[in-house]
Amino acid sequence: MRVQNKVVLVTGAASGIGRAISLRLASEGAKVVATDRNAEGGADVVAQIQQEGGEACFLELDTASETQWTEVAARTVEKYGTPNILVNNAGVYLIRPLASTTLEDWDRMMDVNAKGVFLGMRAIAPLMAAARGGAIVNMSSTNALTGIAGRTAYAASKAAVRIMSKTVAIEYAFDQVRVNSVYPGFVRTGIAEYGAQVAGASVDELGKMVSPLGRIAEPEDVASMVLFLSSDEARHITGAEFVVDGGLTASPNSPVHVSTLQRAEH
Ligand code: NAD
Repeated sequence: MRVQNKVVLVTGAASGIGRAISLRLASEGAKVVATDRNAEGGADVVAQIQQEGGEACFLELDTASETQWTEVAARTVEKYGTPNILVNNAGVYLIRPLASTTLEDWDRMMDVNAKGVFLGMRAIAPLMAAARGGAIVNMSSTNALTGIAGRTAYAASKAAVRIMSKTVAIEYAFDQVRVNSVYPGFVRTGIAEYGAQVAGASVDELGKMVSPLGRIAEPEDVASMVLFLSSDEARHITGAEFVVDGGLTASPNSPVHVSTLQRAEH
């Protein structure tokens, strides 16, 4: 058990990557506080964890709400004690050309993806510091690392996650609170379905196209990285960034499909 008895707070736990993270950490012994603004999906993930013999509860949380973060932090401490692990995973996605990106679009991306992570770290990191340790994992995106058309607001919000993670890592290093960020490429969730719809392809076709490994990632692939970074196996790792993208950002020519080129040569 890699996170036995650790108290974990996961945002955006009701679906996709957050759901996979919640299930995986629970299966490794963690007590999971699954949070989301989607109460139905949140209750469902908790039910699955409990069916599998794990420990979990659901708390409703809109990550962009300062007052809700205060409440959720207090209720988590009351229920299980100070969180040992915080996974700021909740996020919203938008593909829209610059010229038609509205101020409302910009604010929505920044509110959930950037402000939500800021509020989460601000609510939980001081509690971890007082307990002399903790691990925070923030979900960014490969869109924060390389340019891609139609992602101005989304990419900016995810780039904010990248640098906030490093900044807080330094600020809290003395307190043994580790902060790292994760950069998924293309993962089979609702977000991927939306991306595929815009591209006019199926998720599997698009996954094949954008990943040199030739497939879309499963949410569990990202959950494995989060589990590692959350666990004591990563005790000397902080302020670092981890891509889980099937090789997408390894080539300056991305998203050229390397395997296709190799196949063409042979
Ligand atoms: P998803 O839509 O399946 O899950 C996102 C979850 O976040 C949902 O349960 C949703 O209810 C919740 N959420 C959204 N806004 C919220 C808010 N304000 N407060 C609380 N919960 C909120 O998508 P996913 O792919 O699982 O996304 C998880 C994270 O991974 C996001 O941060 C996303 O940007 C990132 N990501 C996803 C991909 C991908 O290809 N799927 C790639 C890179 C990064």
